[in-house]
Amino acid sequence: YATTKPPPNPSPLRNAKFFQANMRILVTGGAGFIGSHLVDRLMQNEKNEVVVVDNYFTGSKDNLKQWFGHPRFELIRHDVTQPLLIEVDQIYHLACPASPIFYKYNPVKTIKTNVIGTLNMLGLAKRVGARILLTSTSEVYGDPLVHPQDESYWGNVNPIGVRSCYDEGKRVAETLMFDYHRQHGIEIRIARIFNTYGPRMNIDDGRVVSNFIAQAIRNEPLTIQSPGTQTRSFCYVDGLIRLMEGSNTGPINIGNPGEFTMIELAETVKELINPKVEIQHVDNTPDDPRQRKPVITKAKELLGWEPTIKLREGLPLMEEDFRKRLGITRTP
Ligand code: NAD
Ligand code: UDP
Ligand code: UDP
Repeated sequence: YATTKPPPNPSPLRNAKFFQANMRILVTGGAGFIGSHLVDRLMQNEKNEVVVVDNYFTGSKDNLKQWFGHPRFELIRHDVTQPLLIEVDQIYHLACPASPIFYKYNPVKTIKTNVIGTLNMLGLAKRVGARILLTSTSEVYGDPLVHPQDESYWGNVNPIGVRSCYDEGKRVAETLMFDYHRQHGIEIRIARIFNTYGPRMNIDDGRVVSNFIAQAIRNEPLTIQSPGTQTRSFCYVDGLIRLMEGSNTGPINIGNPGEFTMIELAETVKELINPKVEIQHVDNTPDDPRQRKPVITKAKELLGWEPTIKLREGLPLMEEDFRKRLGITRTP
């Protein structure tokens, strides 16, 4: 018998670059608009390995194609309403349709995604000891009676309306986050994101900025839903990593305090993108919040974050992206 042990079999994988990653990060909904920008940012850090889970309901593989085949990147087709077994250090939980036309399309599925999906991701976070960030929404403030909205406002939400699958769903998701935090000691972060826009938004997403820009490029009337005096505050896609890496649970508003009526937005899009386009007034949908504007003192003080791109600067960046994807160049 040989008395010396055989030398340890050096795994060829051990020296491969991707094993040097020291943080494995799960991004649910990573094929979507905000998720894919987040993935780009996370992938820029060589220490991160990024796993995206998405069912492609509103997202697209196209948003992630730049990372296909990268050793630190992995894409899994999976629905978060089903349990997920995986080993990760951090979870950015974004999976959920965000545009009213999509979240109202199958409201039962939307609320399952918010409730069961978030429960599953919290169960996963608990099992592996991961920190988890939820992208909640300004919709938790409903049709707000307090203006502008800071994080202490409890909101004014219709529990049985057609938007409830989304806004009540996110409210339950926030409750689950805090209950897992208090009961099981899970490290949580909650962002309440206000209307976000930017390149890569689904062209037929149905939200107002993408609608107006696509309409202006296609020379179709800009559809202002009545009365048009309702306001939103539009933020260029940004800011979640700071919240994850900081020490505050939140909720923290992530948004741009610049407030516009839909009429002002339509006029700005017209001026910047197509001065000849018509503006048309159309009916609105039920329970549309009349005003929305974030107080971002917490984001500034606790995260050192504030928006840097003004609407007039952000719209042309989105126009450029939409023109490329639609194949319509600007005519002088
Ligand atoms: P999006 O629709 O582009 O992305 C959502 C992604 O989640 C898509 O890729 C979709 O396919 C995926 N998804 C949906 N249901 C799923 C499920 N059951 N299982 C797995 N994947 C699923 O939307 P977005 O604008 O990128 O929004 C991302 C997150 O940010 C959402 O949680 C949304 O509620 C939140 N948010 C967005 C805004 C905004 O203005 N865009 C504002 C507030 C909050
Ligand atoms: N879960 C999951 N992945 C895991 C651990 C749990 O998807 O790695 C799911 C699990 O199926 C359950 C949910 O998360 O439905 C909540 O899990 P938890 O352990 O908190 O509760 P329990 O399983 O005891 O109900
Ligand atoms: N809106 C509009 N025209 C459109 C789409 C939306 O005037 O083509 C209005 C809508 O009535 C709402 C605001 O724009 O007051 C923002 O709607 P969006 O669906 O973008 O986001 P929400 O904040 O309602 O989730």
